[in-house]
Amino acid sequence: MATKNPTKKVKEAAPARPTEVVVEEYITVRDLATLIERSPIDLIKILMQFGIMAPITHSIDHDTAVILGEELGVTVNWPETEEEEAEEFVALEEGEEGEVRLHKPERKSYVEQVIDKEREADLEERPPVVAVLGHVDHGKTTLLDYIRKTDVAGGEAGGITQRTGAYQVTVNDQKITFLDTPGHEAFTSMRARGAQVTDIVVLVVAADDGVMPQTKEAINHAKAAGVQIIVALNKVDKNNANPDRVMEELANEGLQPEAWGGETIVVPVVALTGQGVDELLENILVVAELEQYKANPGGHCLGTVIEAELDKYRGVTATLLVQNGTLKQGDSIVVGRTWGRIKAMFDPEGETIKSAGPSAPVTILGLNEVPEAGEIFERVKNDREAKRVVEERVADAARAAQAPAKRMSLEDLFARIDAGETKTLNLIVRADMQGTLEPVVNSLEEIKNEEVEIDVLQAAIGDISESDVMLAEASDAIIIGFSVGVDKAAAVRAEQSGIEIRRYNIIYKMIEDVEDAINGMLEPVYENFVIGHAEVLKLFKLRRGMIAGCMVQDGAIKRNAPARVLRNGELVIDNTKVDTLRRFEEDVAEVRTGYECGIKLADSRDLQEGDVIEVMEQRRVR
Ligand code: GDP
Repeated sequence: MATKNPTKKVKEAAPARPTEVVVEEYITVRDLATLIERSPIDLIKILMQFGIMAPITHSIDHDTAVILGEELGVTVNWPETEEEEAEEFVALEEGEEGEVRLHKPERKSYVEQVIDKEREADLEERPPVVAVLGHVDHGKTTLLDYIRKTDVAGGEAGGITQRTGAYQVTVNDQKITFLDTPGHEAFTSMRARGAQVTDIVVLVVAADDGVMPQTKEAINHAKAAGVQIIVALNKVDKNNANPDRVMEELANEGLQPEAWGGETIVVPVVALTGQGVDELLENILVVAELEQYKANPGGHCLGTVIEAELDKYRGVTATLLVQNGTLKQGDSIVVGRTWGRIKAMFDPEGETIKSAGPSAPVTILGLNEVPEAGEIFERVKNDREAKRVVEERVADAARAAQAPAKRMSLEDLFARIDAGETKTLNLIVRADMQGTLEPVVNSLEEIKNEEVEIDVLQAAIGDISESDVMLAEASDAIIIGFSVGVDKAAAVRAEQSGIEIRRYNIIYKMIEDVEDAINGMLEPVYENFVIGHAEVLKLFKLRRGMIAGCMVQDGAIKRNAPARVLRNGELVIDNTKVDTLRRFEEDVAEVRTGYECGIKLADSRDLQEGDVIEVMEQRRVR
């Protein structure tokens, strides 16, 4: 990074797209797209793959920009001054100079937050939970099957053929839990729901094929989730295997093999025969030993649904991964908006069990409805409590449904007339054939007035799909369909999220509607809502400004959030904002109740120890 100007991108001599850019703590999707000379839609699509819904106008944080950049082959750097400041901060907090690891995102899942609240003394080591990812046909299923079959300590000889979503094996008297759904779709969809079950990703790479598109995707997903990666270099038995080439490709993806002085464990295996698999398992245990995955077997019991279905004979069966506490037969549990009392519990071999502790996968009977994979289950006191919790959640959901998310709609636009700044109406267009798509898009793009511009984000042929609706959600767009249908998943999703789908068969009718609508577009109204308080415990002077070492008293502190400062209940600093938010040496987007953090306010001149920083969030009220 050699730039002196923090806001300018580093340009290559050739007029090619930039390969290195500088991004501050936050940047809008649109600005980042401009900076790296890409379509914002490409960025939104990648974010969606990570389960992040970021409208075009939304700000993403630096960490997210780094990950996006990696996907697109662009290195995203901090401005130099930021790094200097970060170092200064580390020195202050730790009393020494330290390496600043700015990349690892801190997004704690609900389960992690619960475990964090357990008393240190109650925590015990738990088996690691491993997911197997990699490109299609590289041998994920073969590897998972081999490991499951050869679990000698499991006792049962080759009896199990049914997949239950997860299984456990014992190696050197230690257990390892494997998620039995190869591939990153399951992994990602769980993450999109906020579930974080995986500790270690075994990345299967075929030695005869190397790093392929899905390998790269898997690496990005694993990195985004902040989990450890161990590479299983598979198919080394093949004549055309080329391990060295693959290691080089891995190094190019940021996974420098240990053998080459890096940190990534790469184990050559033949999943088909089991060669090297013992070593792979031992390495998983080594990583677990280093990382010390812990939970409290006697604590609040909760975990994640791995998979669930309706069995014709047994009713609802669900495979759960216990992540804290010990789940017992007879327990009442709540999962999302359903609940049940556990009638029976089975281990992955199908044996009846009475209880299951942290990292154990169990299949249970007794839920009233089929929950979704990735949903969190929690034990409650009894059935009455379970019913009460579920009723509350159902009521909340009903309230939310009654007040649908305020999305852009054409009628709305008209009602929200306001002569002010220029506004953009984002559209996603579908038509039945190329011959109609072009005139439809052209005529839409020609519509404008002084205040409103039309931006066609995506134009494609064929029925309106669910991914169109997701894109519309992410970019606050309206979907226009011309002589096309709407597929079922898209209709359901649009209904739920309040995305407007307008269908036309006649161009002039479409133009008339859109013209009518853009003749008024109201400024949305935002109000500040208090979202959390942090007490200033200690102040540290920086070259520029002041860092406050704080304890979050309630709610959450968010980076970039508007803030004010209270002293004995009196307002002493108003209209400031959280400029920097750090936990230990890392920049974080959010810090919740009970955690310490470092806060740098935009205006901190008069800050004193004992002050309370009140942080707010702008919410759209109209
Ligand atoms: P997945 O799509 O990643 O789950 O891949 P599979 O496990 O279905 O494997 C794809 C193909 O590769 C199958 O035909 C396997 O028999 C074969 N295969 C898997 N592992 C090995 C291996 O170590 N050596 C050889 N020669 N073939 C393998």
